[in-house]
Parts: sequence; structure tokens; C-alpha cells
Amino acid sequence: MTDCLFCKMVNGEIAPDKVYEDDDVLAFNDINPVAPVHILVIPKKHISTLNDAEDEDTMLLGKLNRVATGLAEKAGFAGEGYRVVMNCNDAAGQAVHHIHLHLLAGRQMTWPPG
Ligand code: 5GP
Ligand code: ZN
Repeated sequence: MTDCLFCKMVNGEIAPDKVYEDDDVLAFNDINPVAPVHILVIPKKHISTLNDAEDEDTMLLGKLNRVATGLAEKAGFAGEGYRVVMNCNDAAGQAVHHIHLHLLAGRQMTWPPG
């Protein structure tokens, strides 16, 4: 999608601070981190919100989680703990309409989230 910020990162128009890439997934550091580790894990395929994912995207959604857990382990937070979250639409505070997992680690997380 041409006017999507994260699609521009996928197609190279904008260069993110990349931490992982494969054929399906890109991961990069959040520009406004809310934890010592704050990585966004996105599919290269444009999916606007979690509501727009279809059955054919099931593997891709799983892969986002696998990449996030791998990055958490690589960063040394597998045992200590971390949070993986995806916001959907306004009530959850979704600002960028290209789905992304937030991987948050390095501080104590609060529950329930704000
Ligand atoms: P959302 O609120 O949609 O779940 O999360 C969007 C995230 O994208 C926010 O954490 C925000 O800081 C991050 N973000 C917005 N614009 C940019 C950008 O240009 N570069 C990077 N790396 N992150 C961004
Ligand atoms: Zn997009």
C-alpha cells in the first residue's frame, strides 16, 4: 500500500533501524520506545488491522509471534519475561494501520495495561 508508513519500510523507501528480516517478516526498533527493548515485528504483507487478517494469514500471524519470541530470547529476556502485544483499532490505540507486534522487555510490565 503506497501511503502506508510500514509498507514504505518494507519496500525500502524508508530505512528503519532493522533488527530482523526474512521473506515474510521485518522487525525494527520502535522510534519512541516505551521499554528498554521495544521492537516492532511486522508482516511484509499489508494487513491493516487484526480484523483484516484472513485464514490464509494464519501462518503469518504465528510467524510474527515466533520471530518476536526469538528476538526476546536473543536479547536475553526469555527467562526474565517480556510482553508481546498487538493493538487493534482506536480503543486499543492503534496508530499505524499495518499490523505489528510490539515486543517489550527490560522493565517490569504492569497489568492491566493502560
Ligand atoms: P500502535 O499504536 O499502532 O500499536 O503502534 C505504532 C508504533 O509505531 C508506536 O509505538 C510508534 O512509536 C511507532 N512508530 C511510529 N512511527 C514510526 C517510525 O517512523 N519509525 C519507527 N521505527 N516506529 C514508528
Ligand atoms: Zn502497509
